[in-house]
Amino acid sequence: MLNKKFYNETYDKFLKTYGQESEMRLCIEEMSELTKELCKYIRYSKNSKSDENDKNLSLIKNNIIEETADVLICAEQIKRIFGEKQVAAMMDYKIQRGRKIVDEDIKNANGR
Ligand SMILES: [Mg+2]
Repeated sequence: MLNKKFYNETYDKFLKTYGQESEMRLCIEEMSELTKELCKYIRYSKNSKSDENDKNLSLIKNNIIEETADVLICAEQIKRIFGEKQVAAMMDYKIQRGRKIVDEDIKNANGR
């Protein structure tokens, strides 16, 4: 795995070289590619079992891995453009809120 310094230097180069608008457009494109692959995975998962369907699912799974990497890289660019500290603080808030909700849902499900 590459080190964090290499990642950060590369993110800086992307932004400096291509600019904010280009990085935002790329992020939109990559998010839609991941969306498409997830939709395909769900659709193919519901098909009846066959060798061809298994092969397609395997290809789609690889595409999901690739598109997830693309989206995470782009999300780093968006964080840099709009505020890394603010995004980190919002993630803390969202995770804490989500944790409360899921813990409550688990408690309610077990109480039934
Ligand atoms: Mg892509």
